[in-house]
Amino acid sequence: MLRKTKIVATLGPASSDPEVIERMIRAGVDVFRLNFSHGTAEEHIERSRIVRAASERVGRPVAILADLQGPKIRIGRFADGKVELERHQRFILDAACEVGDNTRVGLDYPELPRDVSPGTILLLDDGRIVLDVVEVVGDEIHTRVTLGGELSNNKGINRRGGGLSAPALTAKDLEDVQIAARMGADFVAVSFPRSAEDMQRARQLMLDAGGHALMIAKIERAEATQERVLVQILKASDGIMVARGDLAVEVGDAAVPALQKWMIGLARKYNKLTITATQMMESMISSPLPTRAEVSDVANAVLDGTDAVMLSAETAAGRYPVETVEAMSRICKEAEKFDPTTLDQDFLSLELERVDQSIAMAALVTAHQLRAKAIAALTQSGSTALWVSRFHTHAPIYALTSETTTVRRAALFRGVQPIAIASITDDRERLLKEVERILLLHGAVEPGDLVVTTVGEPLGQSGGTNSLKVMEIGQRVD
Ligand code: PGA
Ligand code: MN
Repeated sequence: MLRKTKIVATLGPASSDPEVIERMIRAGVDVFRLNFSHGTAEEHIERSRIVRAASERVGRPVAILADLQGPKIRIGRFADGKVELERHQRFILDAACEVGDNTRVGLDYPELPRDVSPGTILLLDDGRIVLDVVEVVGDEIHTRVTLGGELSNNKGINRRGGGLSAPALTAKDLEDVQIAARMGADFVAVSFPRSAEDMQRARQLMLDAGGHALMIAKIERAEATQERVLVQILKASDGIMVARGDLAVEVGDAAVPALQKWMIGLARKYNKLTITATQMMESMISSPLPTRAEVSDVANAVLDGTDAVMLSAETAAGRYPVETVEAMSRICKEAEKFDPTTLDQDFLSLELERVDQSIAMAALVTAHQLRAKAIAALTQSGSTALWVSRFHTHAPIYALTSETTTVRRAALFRGVQPIAIASITDDRERLLKEVERILLLHGAVEPGDLVVTTVGEPLGQSGGTNSLKVMEIGQRVD
């Protein structure tokens, strides 16, 4: 059985070995995430080479997502690497402090004192430590600890309710976009975007650097969850990540599950991609089995309609990178059995202006009516496959393309199986014969099955999908 939901796995020390990466691909990874918050440019470039080579060996398209660090604000270091903070004690954040102790610590964002006032709640280390701002004295933020515990070097700082002024693209991000473009990343994830402009700016930088990556907006600021803002961000992006780690700190953990469902639904409506991320299989960092709650979390994201579920520390630093991918794949497949396979009710109220988009919708209706075995989109840009995949359909979608970039991108599209074909010939008969041969070769169809195929004529041009062909398999075999 094919899995529809895609798996994004983060690479790190636990998964740098070519052999492990190859096993992860065999276990089901569709997209590898290079986390630019850690590691050097050389390490990321080396890992991207290993991924491309392993994907080639396994014979399965795999995409690379370069995840920019963004303006994650962090505390500095402590003389002893960590301190223990007691509830009610005073604690000072001060950019000028070089080596911290249990009364104060440094800060990598000197502007922070301007963004806070008495009463502001600061959350450190994903909310494990909570500080209430008492007063701002010059460049020092004086706080009282309301949730104490151990605090170690370089932990992140969030502000409850959002509203930090740091721009989405840092000087480091500007350099990392160049690296992402150079390695031919298929996706670039922008951290902490606040507006459509943040995404447009990132896209322009990437294009200027000669890259072709699709842009993913990580929704992890409270501001970005306002409907008006989110719609603008969606329109300026190719997809979003439900970045539950930072988002939970900014909006409160209990608000995240409902936001996740709403954001995935909205993204699908705008024909955008979604990745559901963070702590999905957290316990598998050190255990060979997930918890019941984790199994439910992954399954629920699948039922929400996410394109992909993501692994972070589980595969980057955990003990069981391959087993975690296997478990995730198994959970996705099982949950997908409950996916609706009827066409959405509001299908007829869609407003379509484009010919290619209308053909994509016609393919869905036709496949539904005829109970076709598969939908095959002959596509250069991949957009026909993307549109078709925004709706529930019983039929697996095959994106057949001669564009390497499109094959890799489509690895993230829910329900879409990308297949590389040699080149789109301008002989229609030969082309359809080739489609049939490939689908048979992939075990997608059997003689007698119906396949709904979308094609653009003249053949081989991007954005030109304008015809629909229903083929009965076996009718063309010589
Ligand atoms: P991060 O983003 O892992 O880069 O912080 C994801 C999240 O915040 O959930
Ligand atoms: Mn984050």
